[in-house]
Amino acid sequence: MLITVVTLLLVLNFYPAQAVRKLIISSKETELLERARTFSATLEEFTTLTQENILVSVQVLDLDEEQRILVTDGFGSVIYDNSKVSSLAGTYALLPDIVAALEGCDVFRCRYGETAFISDAASPVMKGDKAIGAVYIYDYDTEQAAFLNSTRSNIFRISLVLAVVGAAALGFLMVYFGKRVGQLVRGIQSMSAGNYDSRIHLQGQDELSQVADEFNELADRLQKTEELRREFVSNASHELKTPLASIKLLSDSILQTRDIPRESVNEFLTDINEEIDRLTRITERLLQLTKLDYVSSDRMQPCDLNGLVKKITDLLKENAAHAQVELENQLEEDLWVLFDRDGLYQVVFNLVENAIKYNRKGGKVVLKGWKETGEEDRVCLTVQDTGIGIPEEELPHIFERFYRVDKARSREKGGTGLGLAIVADWLKNAGGDIQVESTLGEGTTFRVTLLAGPCEEVTP
Ligand code: ADP
Repeated sequence: MLITVVTLLLVLNFYPAQAVRKLIISSKETELLERARTFSATLEEFTTLTQENILVSVQVLDLDEEQRILVTDGFGSVIYDNSKVSSLAGTYALLPDIVAALEGCDVFRCRYGETAFISDAASPVMKGDKAIGAVYIYDYDTEQAAFLNSTRSNIFRISLVLAVVGAAALGFLMVYFGKRVGQLVRGIQSMSAGNYDSRIHLQGQDELSQVADEFNELADRLQKTEELRREFVSNASHELKTPLASIKLLSDSILQTRDIPRESVNEFLTDINEEIDRLTRITERLLQLTKLDYVSSDRMQPCDLNGLVKKITDLLKENAAHAQVELENQLEEDLWVLFDRDGLYQVVFNLVENAIKYNRKGGKVVLKGWKETGEEDRVCLTVQDTGIGIPEEELPHIFERFYRVDKARSREKGGTGLGLAIVADWLKNAGGDIQVESTLGEGTTFRVTLLAGPCEEVTP
């Protein structure tokens, strides 16, 4: 802080004083050289330089008595000196300025010595190209020096006040911003130490408050993501633990039962096999979900929805027959959508599989599809079943990961609670939409809206 004040003082004092001093010297140069030149020009009118001629010029020009004026002949001998106290008339005044003037040059020098500006100016008196004499003016100016000194002390006083006020303002700003930046840093440090609930509260409307607001928003998002991550990890481990515990129990039973009959072993092994299938399904779906986080829009391509629905219904025909459910495909012809091909397969497969799974004996699953024209052409697909239905209060949750309305029933049907989460994620990534309507005991309809695509299949 002290260094800043001192530097400020030096800068404020040095440059203005220097400028005033240069200004005075330059005005002195103009004034004295002009005077010397005018004087020598009048002297050039005379054929010879005599004291009388010079006195005439002095009177004509009304030259200043306060400046010492010498006129020499071509050899440096003083013909005229206006000093009444110690006249140099008749002596040789071979001062460097006079010598230079006798060589034909105009000369000016000025030095500043605290109490006065001491200036010398000399100009030659020419006859043709020869100097027949020289005019020399000596000026000792205490007035301008006093002016410069008073200006300097005024500048010093003003700059001192400015420096003190500036330093105080600077100090205040440093403390103020230091405190605010400190708050920001502490918030960021606390967040990087893992405290996701840390928030920064800064008063005011400046940029730092905006940074704090942005930080708080980021912290909100991070906290939410962290909560979801924890929930996901705990759900996933719970889901994986259940089949693993069953496998352990079943294998222990085989190992610990003496002389266990072959049929019982087969029964246990079939159960173990089912649990392994469940584990495989869960891990496959978890992998699909993690991959979904990285799906990019450049994987979108025109897909033939009719062909895909036919493929899936053919594949699930046996499941449907086994569950005594009728599958009906009522899609309009020639429906093309813009989607990721694998993604579209998973969306339709999961919806149709659920419609069969959560149906009743003798029930029906109807698939309808049609095109909707608008600002952006869309294709709608509905999967309607006559199954058990979903209670209204459960509807907002069915797209959450691991959410199942009836855990036992879902497990018994080989469910993982991840199918609809995958459907929703795919649709979110590919600019699609899903809606559900359900009446308990009567059935459920899922309606998917997709971007319409051009009628041509691009080979990947
Ligand atoms: P799951 O693997 O358990 O079927 P999903 O994510 O596919 O998981 O579905 C979540 C839950 O939504 C299911 O457990 C089920 O309770 C309910 N559900 C999904 N589709 C239907 C449907 N068509 N009819 C009735 N309930 C359904």
